[in-house]
Amino acid sequence: MRPQSIQIPGLTLLNNLAPHAIAATSEGGFISAAAPQSKVAAPAMPRRKENKKTKARRALAEAQAVAGRNGHAHNNPARQELTGPRLYRPPNTSNVSNNGITARATPSGPRILTRDSPRDERVAPSEASGGIPDPSPLYMAQSSTLPCSLRQPRRIFVIIDLNGTLLYRPNKRQPFNFIQRPHARQFLDYCIDTFHVAIWSSARAENVDKMVSQLLSPQQRARCVVIWARDKFNLSPADYSARVQCYKRLTSIWNDPSVMASHPAAAHGQRWDQTNTVLVDDSAEKGRSEPYNILQLPEFEGPKAEPPDVLPQVHDYLNLLCHQANISSYIRHHPFKINANYRLTPPPGVHTR
Ligand SMILES: [Mg+2]
Repeated sequence: MRPQSIQIPGLTLLNNLAPHAIAATSEGGFISAAAPQSKVAAPAMPRRKENKKTKARRALAEAQAVAGRNGHAHNNPARQELTGPRLYRPPNTSNVSNNGITARATPSGPRILTRDSPRDERVAPSEASGGIPDPSPLYMAQSSTLPCSLRQPRRIFVIIDLNGTLLYRPNKRQPFNFIQRPHARQFLDYCIDTFHVAIWSSARAENVDKMVSQLLSPQQRARCVVIWARDKFNLSPADYSARVQCYKRLTSIWNDPSVMASHPAAAHGQRWDQTNTVLVDDSAEKGRSEPYNILQLPEFEGPKAEPPDVLPQVHDYLNLLCHQANISSYIRHHPFKINANYRLTPPPGVHTR
């Protein structure tokens, strides 16, 4: 039986990489990409590049932590009543080796969520919500192997964020009022036709529903593996309502029964895992527990500051991942980077001067 080749529509016609196609194996299934179980010492995680907003948040957090240690921030009992003190580890801090596992620096001091906190400030989730996750030693070992190409590409599992990735909400109180990132609908059409797609946002379920209903048709929604919102972060009731840092633990989506059943070879015991999954998100911190399964793209904050053709570049990178036996090792060695000189190729029949 000849491999069934599926031409990728949509943006493929626009970008510079050709041809893109994914194919089922001759057995009619998909190529197994089980990662070697070698016990390779986990090297230190790279410090991710910070944008201005992240830098400002970190500076603020560190300043408040210092103030906290000096007794300036916690002398007001009225403030403590709001949520109680929390341990905070600022994102992207220096690496500390812990039995070969890369870990963040020790907590820098308690922090308190206050009503007068700046809007962008986030606090760490409480222990009841799972705290701050780190990658497991097994995960790090599997991502340490050298990238290996498949003979034929395969359909991968793509988990896509909403706010900052596909859209920008100028006013978060009006979630149905948002600006779409350039090419957002075309990109989603393409992803749903080509990959196994999940949507996962830390916004509340009712808001996610409004956003998704503007981006996808009912038929497209039905084709998504899952559409997950804030209620899927296992947050405590207090954290659910607070401005906490959310973590997209991929193990929680991989272990979900409906997600497990969505793997085309589920009946043969195959699962979505670090070898075949990518999280498309503007926040590296959200992907902290599986740091080499995130395709971090620049945060979309409106068309003015937007680099050229971000989503077509993501499209091309996703196509590359279809050819990889272990997505986490590929991303570890070749992380996604925006090319400032990227130019779309006009579709056939469109002539430009
Ligand atoms: Mg986001």
